[in-house]
Amino acid sequence: MNDVLPSDAPQWLYLESVLRTLLNDYGYQHIRTPMLETTPLFVRSIGEVTDIVEKEMYTFTDSLNGESLTLRPEGTAGVLRAVVEHNLLYNATQRLWYTGPMFRHERPQKGRYRQFSQTGVEVLGFPGPDIDAEILLMTADLWQRLGIADYVELQINTLGNREERGAHRTALIAYLEQHAERLDEDGKRRLYTNPLRVLDTKNPDLQEICNAAPRLIDYLGAESRAHYQGWKAMLDAVGIRYTENPRLVRGLDYYNLSVFEWVTSELGAQGTVCAGGRYDGLVEDLGGKPTPGIGFGMGMERILLLLQEKGLIPATSGVDVYLVQQGEGASLYAMKLAKQLRAAGVSVMQHLGEGSFKSQMKKADGSGAAYAVIVGENEIANGTAIVKSLRSEAEQRTVAFAEVADAIAAFKA
Ligand code: ATP
Ligand code: MG
Repeated sequence: MNDVLPSDAPQWLYLESVLRTLLNDYGYQHIRTPMLETTPLFVRSIGEVTDIVEKEMYTFTDSLNGESLTLRPEGTAGVLRAVVEHNLLYNATQRLWYTGPMFRHERPQKGRYRQFSQTGVEVLGFPGPDIDAEILLMTADLWQRLGIADYVELQINTLGNREERGAHRTALIAYLEQHAERLDEDGKRRLYTNPLRVLDTKNPDLQEICNAAPRLIDYLGAESRAHYQGWKAMLDAVGIRYTENPRLVRGLDYYNLSVFEWVTSELGAQGTVCAGGRYDGLVEDLGGKPTPGIGFGMGMERILLLLQEKGLIPATSGVDVYLVQQGEGASLYAMKLAKQLRAAGVSVMQHLGEGSFKSQMKKADGSGAAYAVIVGENEIANGTAIVKSLRSEAEQRTVAFAEVADAIAAFKA
C-alpha cells in the first residue's frame, strides 16, 4: 500500500478532474459507499471460485459482534447493495460512477498493489446493447482527452446467458477431462469448479489445449447473438475499433453477454487499464427486482503509469503570488494584503515567520508562484507594496496597497 506524496499528488488530482468532467458530460451521477462490507456480499456477487474470493480478500472478524467483514476488493458489489437498500431503481434507471481505494492481497509489482484505486461506472435498467456501446464511447473519449488513445486497444467478447454457459460448460468439462493430465495445478483445480477460467490461463504450455477447446460462441442462442451483433454494429457505426477475443472471460463470476477490456502493451504484464461487462442477474441475486446492469472498473495507477511513461501529465502551476514580508509590523500588513488579494481572486502564499530577504525570494521561486509581492518597513510607511514578476524580465513596480490586485492583472495582460 502506497503513500501519495505531495510530489505525486498533482497527477492524481489531474486524472480525477478529467474523469469528473467526463462523467458529468455523459450524465452519470456520483455515488460513495463504505470501504467495508459484510463478507458474504462479496462471496455471493464475485463468486466462490475466483482469484479474489479464494485468495485476495482482506477479511477479518468484527470483535464487537463476531461478524465477518471485508475491505472492498472491487466497487460493483457495494454500489448494487446500496442501490437495492435505498430502492434507487423504483421507477428509475441509474447511471452511476464511483472512485476510491480497493484492497486485494496480491503480490505487489509494477501496476499491481494491495491498495489501489478504481474509478468505475454501474448502469442499471438498460437491457439493449446501446448502453454497452455508450460506455465504450465514453471510455474511448477518455483516452482521447488524456492523449493515450494510440496506446490502448479494445478487446470484446460475449459470454451468453446462464443456460448457454451451462451447455458450453458441460462440453468444456468433457473436453478438458480428456486432457486433464496435461493441465497445470490451477487448471486441474478449476476443471470442475470454473472451467471457463481454465481457458483464461497465461501458461504458454496450455495454449494449444485452450485454442482447440469448445467455443462458447458456438453455444449462443438467437437472442444472445443478436445482442452481440447489435453491440458490434454500434461500435462500427461510431468508429470504435475492437478485437474479438473469444478467450476473454473476466475474473468475476457475475458477468453475462458483453464483456470487454481496454489493454495496453506499454506496461508489461499488467496491461489491462479498464475492464467490465454486463451483469444482468446480479441485482436480483442481491435481493433487488430483476434489473439489467453493466459496468466497468479502471485501474487509476495503471492509467497514471501510462501517462507518466508518455510524458502526458501537464505541469501544474503554483499560486499567483508569494508574499514576501520583512520588518516591524510587516507580517500583519502582509496578512491583510493577502486577504484582500484573495478576495479579488488572486491566489497567495504568504511567507510566515522570520527569514532573510534572499531566502524568502528563494522560497518564492521554489513555490512556482508567478509573482512576488514584497512588503517591508518602507512599504508599510507609504501604504504600498512592490510587485515583481518571477517568470519574466518585466520591471518591478511599487503600487498602492489597494491596487496590488489590479497591478497583477495588468502584469498578466
Ligand atoms: P488482473 O488480471 O490485472 O489481475 P483483474 O481482472 O483482477 O485484473 P478487475 O477486477 O477487472 O481486474 O479490476 C479492474 C481494473 O482494476 C483492472 O483492469 C486493473 O486496471 C485494476 N486492478 C485490478 N487489480 C489491481 C491491483 N492489484 N493493483 C492495481 N490495479 C488493479
Ligand atoms: Mg486480479
